[in-house]
Amino acid sequence: MVKPTEPDQVPNPLGEVEALVDGGDMDCGSGLLLLITRAMRRLEPGQLLGVRSQEVSVVTDLPAWAELTGHGVVTEIAEADAGPWWFAVRKAGAATREATVFSQGERTPVGHRLWVYTNFDCNLACGYCCAESSPKAAARRFDPATAAAVFGEFAAQGGREVFLTGGEPFMNPELGALVVAAAGLERTILTNAMVFARGTRRRTLEELDRDVVLQVSLDSATPAPHDKQRGAGAWSRAFDGIALARSLGFRVRVAATLYEEDPAGVGALHGLLDDVGIAAPDRVIRPVAQEGFATTGVHVSLESLEPEPTVTADGAWWHPVAVTNPHLRIADAPLPLAEVFGVVRDTLAVQDAAARAGRAVFRCA
Ligand code: SF4
Repeated sequence: MVKPTEPDQVPNPLGEVEALVDGGDMDCGSGLLLLITRAMRRLEPGQLLGVRSQEVSVVTDLPAWAELTGHGVVTEIAEADAGPWWFAVRKAGAATREATVFSQGERTPVGHRLWVYTNFDCNLACGYCCAESSPKAAARRFDPATAAAVFGEFAAQGGREVFLTGGEPFMNPELGALVVAAAGLERTILTNAMVFARGTRRRTLEELDRDVVLQVSLDSATPAPHDKQRGAGAWSRAFDGIALARSLGFRVRVAATLYEEDPAGVGALHGLLDDVGIAAPDRVIRPVAQEGFATTGVHVSLESLEPEPTVTADGAWWHPVAVTNPHLRIADAPLPLAEVFGVVRDTLAVQDAAARAGRAVFRCA
């Protein structure tokens, strides 16, 4: 991948533009669409956005994007036959923008749900970890002051539910404060349930409000498949952690990641969950995404992933499985949330407009 460069490091043949985006070799089906959507939101109607790209598909896709959004390509320059290509795009007026607001249909409405990575370190180092977490990973902890600002803005915009994930959230000594900062919202913590049996993490667990839901990873009905990815003894400790959390009065949801398709294994897992009384709505079974450490699994992209806006200590992302994927990065900071959700809405709007127009405009990464 050709990395985007800082715009002010690039000689600009377009002349005067208000902002400049260098997308490297990203295409409109991946990171370039998010970059230009964010940049365009920051401009006033009539101002010019410069775009540079080394990806040949932009010759078709960028004008198509401009047509769908109502913006106007006023200059197009090819430095050579093989690019890179430069575009100056004039931002549409407000009336044109309103015409492209998307219909959300069956999707979870953007702005209702927010994912937060509390930290990236973990007691485990699973072979399929999309976040590239491990005991050696930099913690990148989400601090409570930022969390208070994020959750405050989220609630003020009509936000409803927060999912706190990692890494292993209970590795963050300030998890309790992060959960308190989200009070008033529906709160779920994703955990491997292995580290809160005793000590300060046990106290953190016991002090949580009982309306906090714990979503615990348990990949199989028997230890071997789970431990193959997560390490010897992981299944037993997770199972004990589920029992402990339920004994303390928490609602526990079980999430299984299927590394290889195994219908018999899924049936056995449902049988186990029936036996221990985990209700069907509290079971989440999903395949591995080919992200992070995973070398196989479902390929994900801007086109194939329904957005689930996600913030980390150092950025914002399209979806929680894609926080190591530069093509799915929305912003370089978690705040302001209005910009994060705005980029997602605008991107969905253009995807929907392309679909309505019957155009396969935006290519996969
Ligand atoms: S998949 Fe979950 S438990 Fe495994 S390393 Fe990643 S964050 Fe930790």
